[in-house]
Amino acid sequence: MRSHESHAVVLGTRDMGESDLLVELLSRDTGRIVGVAKAAKKSKRRFVNTFDLGHLIRVKYYLPRGRELFLIEDASLINPHGRLAGDLPSMAYTALVIELVRELFPETERSTDLFETTALILSILNERGARQDLLWLFVLRILKISGIVPLFSACVRCRSRQADAADRFFVPDAGGVVCGPCITPRDRTIELSCGTVTALSAATDIPIERLARIALTPASLSQTRDCLLSFIDHQLGKRMRSVDFIERYIS
Ligand SMILES: [Zn+2]
Repeated sequence: MRSHESHAVVLGTRDMGESDLLVELLSRDTGRIVGVAKAAKKSKRRFVNTFDLGHLIRVKYYLPRGRELFLIEDASLINPHGRLAGDLPSMAYTALVIELVRELFPETERSTDLFETTALILSILNERGARQDLLWLFVLRILKISGIVPLFSACVRCRSRQADAADRFFVPDAGGVVCGPCITPRDRTIELSCGTVTALSAATDIPIERLARIALTPASLSQTRDCLLSFIDHQLGKRMRSVDFIERYIS
């Protein structure tokens, strides 16, 4: 029974019986885990506000022999992200990040990249408010870490890289950008501007600390969102609930 001590992001909680709390975390050490915090509902002193949504915490836990649920021995706050629950758009964007992580990464699949990227976007949403442009750029990076990422830097069919080509379309089923000559009449397409293609090619590869410097025009933001949403719909074979909520109530 190896005990872990790790940084983690709180993905959600659920009551478990009278006094325990079921906590879902994205940990740096062991990926996404679900653990029990014993007496967390009764002993306010022990875990006060620690398990609020999106908070960055330090947590000590282990997997008891023969069990599926981890046992959380201790937890403390490193960085409270209280503003994530402060308004509807922030809550909805946080929910989208969390749902995407759940959909793409199985429990206990370890990825330091995923932890760093998720912690950073939640921290940015907390500090800067509900920035939809940054949300989508980070969604692109979470897709990349999962290994299922749309290609923007070249045509997926002929691999031509002419970034200044006039006709570039996004074809969700093809997995990325398709140039004018490669488009067939049967393709479902989203038209992309040159600026969007350039921005998203860069956003796929630059260090995540520099993502926040990419500026998307309103038109590029709308194209980015359409591309990534249709790509995710196609990959998952369904629409995520958080996306449905955003479309209905936020924009
Ligand atoms: Zn082509």
